[in-house]
Amino acid sequence: MSSHSIFTRIINRELPSYTVCEDMENIAFLDINPLRRGHILIVPKLEVDNIFSLNEKSYNSLFFFAKRVAINMKKKITCNRIGMSVVGLDVPHAHIHLIPINSFEDMNFNKSPLKLTEEEMLNICQLLKFTA
Ligand code: AMP
Repeated sequence: MSSHSIFTRIINRELPSYTVCEDMENIAFLDINPLRRGHILIVPKLEVDNIFSLNEKSYNSLFFFAKRVAINMKKKITCNRIGMSVVGLDVPHAHIHLIPINSFEDMNFNKSPLKLTEEEMLNICQLLKFTA
């Protein structure tokens, strides 16, 4: 059993993901339990549990990368805003949720996730893919 987080295993391509973008320090892929179509996770390649433990450079890099991904999402998905949230209760590897939203309810993490088919996930991934 690997001692690395599930997200590090995605970064290392040991596990599959719907990756939309990456740079040297960060990666963006679809959340497999999306609250909304296009729900993306922004993850630093450095494996740190708590986002607020990241050093200043990595923290700034993560949020700047998230901004670029969010701007790209807003261009391609019809929504009022791109919501941003840090939770971290499930996966002990720092990450930011970016979610296309129209209402507060769209950011409700208690809601059941959408059930999307493999084909729908691939189509959303294709739509949101871009080069950093
Ligand atoms: P949290 O740690 O509470 O911010 O939640 C972790 C998020 O990671 C949840 O929304 C999960 O659906 C998502 N997640 C867990 N495993 C994967 C995976 N293999 N690929 C994509 N998203 C995942």
